[in-house]
Amino acid sequence: MGDIRSTSRLLEDYQRHIAQLEELHALLHKRLVAARAEWASLTEGERVPGPPTADTTVPPARGRAERARTAVMEIETAIGRLESGVYGTCQRCGAFIALHRLRQVPHTRYCTACHDLPRREEATT
Ligand SMILES: [Zn+2]
Repeated sequence: MGDIRSTSRLLEDYQRHIAQLEELHALLHKRLVAARAEWASLTEGERVPGPPTADTTVPPARGRAERARTAVMEIETAIGRLESGVYGTCQRCGAFIALHRLRQVPHTRYCTACHDLPRREEATT
């Protein structure tokens, strides 16, 4: 049987959790606006993806387009996770991602430990 103190404690935790999610949601929206503005500032020619190539001498404009495209996509995906209630857990090990890390990189999919693992193809955030 739970007493009143533990119930209000639970409620406090819950409210703090909700407040943190709202903060991160706002942060993600801010980042999304910035990423979309960056994308919008590119010319049509800069946005066109070039042919697949192993060439590492990609012109700077295309690198910028690629980064803007990736940023918009990752932030939108993160907002989708937030709205479907699976936000904030590591997609590799399932652990909760530390709040300070989410504040720093709100669209991250990995906890610090997994992010620091030797890079695999998808561990870029
Ligand atoms: Zn992890």
